[in-house]
Amino acid sequence: MATDLSKFAKDNGVKYFMVSFTDLFGAQRAKLVPASAIAGMQTDGAGFAGFAAWLDMSPADPDMLAVPDGDAVIQLPWKPEVAWVPANPMMEGEEVDQAPRNVLRKLIGEAEEAGLRIKTGVEAEFFLLNPEGTELSDPLDVAEKPCYDQSAVMRRYDVIAAICDNMLDLGWGPYQNDHEDANGQFEMNWEYDDVLATADKHSFFKFMVKSIAEQNGLRATFMPKPMEGLTGNGCHAHISAWDKSGKTNKFADTSDEGNRSGSLGLSPLAHHFLGGIMAHAEAMTALTNPTVNSYKRLNAPVTTSGATWSPNTATWSGNNRTHMVRVPDPGRFELRLADGATNPYLLQAVIIAAGLDGVANQTDPGKRLDINMYTESNKARGAKKLPLNLLDALRAFDKDKVLKAALGQEFAGAYLKLKHDEWNRFTAHFSQWERENTLDV
Ligand SMILES: [Mg+2]
Repeated sequence: MATDLSKFAKDNGVKYFMVSFTDLFGAQRAKLVPASAIAGMQTDGAGFAGFAAWLDMSPADPDMLAVPDGDAVIQLPWKPEVAWVPANPMMEGEEVDQAPRNVLRKLIGEAEEAGLRIKTGVEAEFFLLNPEGTELSDPLDVAEKPCYDQSAVMRRYDVIAAICDNMLDLGWGPYQNDHEDANGQFEMNWEYDDVLATADKHSFFKFMVKSIAEQNGLRATFMPKPMEGLTGNGCHAHISAWDKSGKTNKFADTSDEGNRSGSLGLSPLAHHFLGGIMAHAEAMTALTNPTVNSYKRLNAPVTTSGATWSPNTATWSGNNRTHMVRVPDPGRFELRLADGATNPYLLQAVIIAAGLDGVANQTDPGKRLDINMYTESNKARGAKKLPLNLLDALRAFDKDKVLKAALGQEFAGAYLKLKHDEWNRFTAHFSQWERENTLDV
């Protein structure tokens, strides 16, 4: 029985619900619905003009109805009279196929058919900037190697502790917060969960971080590379697949034989899932690294801290952070490809789509490389380079028929169309760099 939102409002003193959906560009859009009207909305959905969001719809289309998922409701810890509830977009009685939360739910169903329950955790890094978003907010945060700087994290204690307290109240199991590798950059970690729960939490986390930062007179950004020369905002995902009960990790290989064979504690199933990720890596970047700015983080020149911490090639390794995939512990692996601009739902969807293809075809992930990819990449012969810009990524996605089919043709068509439009708007923009380098040609 799904959570009755009307009853939830009465039990918890909620006055308004934010009925929220996420569009193809990751924008969260909501209507504020008074608790007195939520019962009807829970059945019929809240009406939106789809054309007004990034969903590739027409102004002539009928109402898009966002039907709240009552079980996913989250009361705003900093404004308890309001509750956020993610919704599934519908139109004329049918699911909107290209809506990201629907894309993910479809893929979860396919994983279930394959007997898998995918669980992930995400590490959504962010910067705290001045309110205009033009400068770092802390003038004392200037260390060459600022990672784990204890004084710098304490100067932002009010913001970090408020967010962490909220996650504690929500029962997310947060367990550590730190100053990250760029000046002004932070990371907060909470427990992994089923992919839909992780995607909802990831969405809410971004909303919460921005809201708490604003309350403190700051601007939070998840932009992949907000400051030239500094480490960018990654969104690493730790991936495992479980049985139906969610109690047995099917990625874990604890057998003696497994350990002797150097499996790093990953089962054959995990290797095949990883094989799918490796095989589709170039196409995946269209979703994991979805903006023009994303490609200033991937393939970046060395940062002032000494390392970008982001991959440049589709390679995997053991506990080694210079590769696209790291196996830090038995039973899971870390995909280090995605950045802060990735759509929380599409990130999870594309992981499942690529991974299930690997499982279905028993794809070999290729040889594990135990080298420093930042200094010895010449030794990684034959390894695929990641796309150098958004256009290359979109072309790679367009060519990947398997991934497009898995995510759905409606979705793939809409996404490619809108993202090509975005690329065209970017290239039409006349930049100062061009003037400086071309004026006297
Ligand atoms: Mg990090």
